[in-house]
Amino acid sequence: MLIVMKSDATRSDIDRVVEIIKKLGLRGHELPGESRTAIGITGNKGSVDPTHFENLTGVADAIRVTKPYKLISKDLRPEQSVIKVGNGFIGGGDLAIIAGPCAVENPGQVFKVAEAVAASGAKFFRGGAFKPRTSPYAFQGMGEDGLKILSEVRERFDLNIVTEAMDEHGIDLVEKYGDCIQIGARNMQNFSLLKYAGRTRKPVLLKRGLSATLDEFLLAAEYIMAEGNYDVILCERGIRTFSDHARNTMDLSIVPAIRRLSHLPVIVDPSHGTGHNYMVNPMARAGVAVGADGLIIEVHPCPEEALCDGAQALTPLQYSELVDQVRKIHDLVGEKTFAQV
Ligand code: PEP
Ligand code: MN
Repeated sequence: MLIVMKSDATRSDIDRVVEIIKKLGLRGHELPGESRTAIGITGNKGSVDPTHFENLTGVADAIRVTKPYKLISKDLRPEQSVIKVGNGFIGGGDLAIIAGPCAVENPGQVFKVAEAVAASGAKFFRGGAFKPRTSPYAFQGMGEDGLKILSEVRERFDLNIVTEAMDEHGIDLVEKYGDCIQIGARNMQNFSLLKYAGRTRKPVLLKRGLSATLDEFLLAAEYIMAEGNYDVILCERGIRTFSDHARNTMDLSIVPAIRRLSHLPVIVDPSHGTGHNYMVNPMARAGVAVGADGLIIEVHPCPEEALCDGAQALTPLQYSELVDQVRKIHDLVGEKTFAQV
């Protein structure tokens, strides 16, 4: 059930609706929009009787939701969500660029990349301190020491930190040192982790699972939001297909597909999406052209020496060329991408 308030509904009208939802043993999620507030209801097993709400002052409509998701939906919030990440914003028209190494390796490596990222005008820095590696013998990340280096990047370069957490303890640490919790492709359906992230107050960058459908991806975001954290950014990072010329197949049509259904921002990761240095720039351009709200790009001062994902890392120079090019494309397509879906 979705309660749509009238545009002139007062604070106490909204509080009254939320109170009734609580009395029914359910949870109300208030999402204020530009012209009206909507309140999503979760926790119900069957359908909720609309007569509880229909005649209350300030209520415009009580709508039964037939889709499997509620809070991610444009029915709840017709305007695009803009998510605050540290002192920057993702969504809502500007192109957000998140860049940095795959993994935090040492302070020198990280600061070199941070310098290039700050110089490009990007507002967000990435870097993993906890790395989900295929082999248990591969470099697993620096852990908390890596997060300390990242928080130094925030102080020195005024960049907002996006970094992955793989378990609950990792989320606690990322909350302490970072600005945005990344949940990786391998954990997209780790439901207890999603719920835990939903109980934090930090925004979450949710990457699409390696074989996740659109609905599975959106429902993973719904898990986070159902716990009360509405600050979710979706990320297409490529999926597994029979195609073997690239590490993954970047499924760019998911950008307009998400746009049609959801108010959440969606960004694109051409680094993991392709796995090859030479493919990152063209696919980044394509991602911006289809209307992504941003990009996440891996950069390393010396890709051939990277401890993780060196084959897809850009040099700082390649990265700055990419930023110049995608900004031009974004200026060209910008607002038009919203109008078409
Ligand atoms: C990463 O961003 O470094 C990463 C491991 O991404 P993914 O979860 O998409 O593989
Ligand atoms: Mn990586």
